[in-house]
Amino acid sequence: MGTYKEFHRRSIEQREEFWAEQAKLVDWQRPCRQVLDYSRPPFAKWFVGGQTNLCHNAVDRHLAARGGQKALIYISTETGQERTYTFRDLHKEVNRCAGMIRSLGVGKGDRVLIYMPMIPEAVFAMLACARLGAIHSVVFGGFAARSLAARIDDARPKLMITADGGLRGGRAILYQSMFNEAIRVSKSPPAKVVVFNRGLDKELGSVAGRDCDYEELRSRHMDDEVPVTWVESNEPSYILYTSGTTGQPKGVQRDTGGYAVALAASMKHIYCGSPGETMFTTSDIGWVVGHSYIVYGPLIYGMTSVMYEGLPIRPDAGIWWKIVADNKVTVMFSSPTAARVLKKQDPAFIKQHDISSLKHLFLAGEPLDEPTHRWFTEALGKPVIDHYWQTETGWPLLTSAPAVERTPVKLGSPGFPAYGYDLRLLRESDAGEAKPNEKAVVAVVPPLPPGCMSTVWGDDERFVETYFTSFPGKLVYSTFDWGIRDEDGYHFILGRTDDVINVAGHRLGTREIEEAVQAHPNIAEVAVVGVADPLKGQLPLAFAVVKDVAKVATQELRASQEKEVMDTVDRQLGAVGRPSRVHFVTLLPKTRSGKLLRRSIQALAEGRDPGDLTTIEDASALDQIRAAMQPAVR
Ligand code: ATP
Ligand code: MG
Repeated sequence: MGTYKEFHRRSIEQREEFWAEQAKLVDWQRPCRQVLDYSRPPFAKWFVGGQTNLCHNAVDRHLAARGGQKALIYISTETGQERTYTFRDLHKEVNRCAGMIRSLGVGKGDRVLIYMPMIPEAVFAMLACARLGAIHSVVFGGFAARSLAARIDDARPKLMITADGGLRGGRAILYQSMFNEAIRVSKSPPAKVVVFNRGLDKELGSVAGRDCDYEELRSRHMDDEVPVTWVESNEPSYILYTSGTTGQPKGVQRDTGGYAVALAASMKHIYCGSPGETMFTTSDIGWVVGHSYIVYGPLIYGMTSVMYEGLPIRPDAGIWWKIVADNKVTVMFSSPTAARVLKKQDPAFIKQHDISSLKHLFLAGEPLDEPTHRWFTEALGKPVIDHYWQTETGWPLLTSAPAVERTPVKLGSPGFPAYGYDLRLLRESDAGEAKPNEKAVVAVVPPLPPGCMSTVWGDDERFVETYFTSFPGKLVYSTFDWGIRDEDGYHFILGRTDDVINVAGHRLGTREIEEAVQAHPNIAEVAVVGVADPLKGQLPLAFAVVKDVAKVATQELRASQEKEVMDTVDRQLGAVGRPSRVHFVTLLPKTRSGKLLRRSIQALAEGRDPGDLTTIEDASALDQIRAAMQPAVR
């Protein structure tokens, strides 16, 4: 494993030379005069003085060489619609949209809140903002009024771009009542709202003087040509709020030049993409993965991006592989959550399609357990690469970089520190470096590389306070995740630092126990939380979804299955980690980005209020937790 090690070493020891080289992957209107300004730690300014534009890099610069190539393929299994845009088409639509936005008084530095479903107009809107130097803040479509209002209050947008609704599993989620309510309660509501009408809401109204219809407005800007606004590399391109798994979402502010360079470099070294090839990322534009790898990354690199609205198992569990086959997808990016959904299905669905174009599949967003990793690798017959990142970083911080070196995959490991990250595993007690296999906090010695957040929107102090003060006396970025490094240099994420269970003085990560539970062959998914116990401090409690429900059909079967799971944990981890109970449920409470809401499960298990539920995907999952906590009726 020498080549990658050397590559990484150079990225840290010759930081500026390394990134100056990567900067050549994007277009600059004016080159920078300084690669890195780190005169005010921990704030890092990349490519200072350089002038560039994200929209130019994603669209305009490809017109000459690949104007006729597909840029965006839109597939909706919700509406049955498919639309394809070449780079030339995309350029036209983005110019129209930029013309529309400009006509509503938006200019450089103004915020535009994009609250949209997975439709191409959402991409046009993002790119149009970038074109104008306006700052977009995409809020996941379908977030309830309260979450939306909190983000409006923080970002103070001049304009909101939205739609009548989104679709999920054949069900419409109408937005009107949500954005109206959010605007009503907001302290700094947008003056204008553009609404794209998909024909989902028969009662779609319009507020006079505030609302405009997207299509109607577009028809007045058909021939607009809006020049690119060149911005200094460090000017903000967007604000994106973190998922809120652990609490109050933070407004992550991203720069422009550093982000463009980081994405282009990752397309080359990590994802092994090539201009002209097709990338399929199954995320949503409302998340960071959608920003980086549905929209900006592939387009900046001259690749075709597939945008998919729909579920992974509708009309059947072969749909993603059909998309791969039909569009000769070479790079795919998805999540462990989706992998676990597919794992419950027949793998024959994959075999029905010719996925020979696919080089590899990347997964991120949540811990990838070993059984799921193994299952997916075998089912696909392709490398499945786990990589680890955060909204804050914008691109992976632990990964393998197959284009630099084809390091062997270790199941359940997201690999090595990505180039540019001086990543350390630091002991919580004294901030010392952990030994191999010693559990510690995943941290990064600043400066953070290009592409990472520049600050918390409007709150430099909160940025420093939140991320850089975990280790007294040391200016280090904390990820708030536990990890270990094995003797071979492979890293493993053990869960979040606030997901720790203290059983009679033993500190156990919930992830460790979940891994052990998951080693039982009938467990598809599990959540483990710590519940207060007068004797031991805390006790682990498990809520599990099984693959074969017949095995938990009766009280007796459940009891025997529970015993088997406990025995599995005893063998894997030791009795100290054995859950006091294993409850079988059909659904676990998750955020809309697919992350387990352990904090709500724990609250319910301890008989407390589950707290802020605005980011929950399906609130009925909590009823099952509640029901499981009732004393058994015999
Ligand atoms: P908040 O910070 O608001 O609580 P969040 O941390 O869930 O929300 P994201 O930035 O979307 O918001 O998620 C990043 C987190 O997801 C990481 O810190 C880590 O806990 C988890 N994660 C991401 N990728 C992986 C991975 N490959 N393996 C394990 N965990 C991962
Ligand atoms: Mg986080």
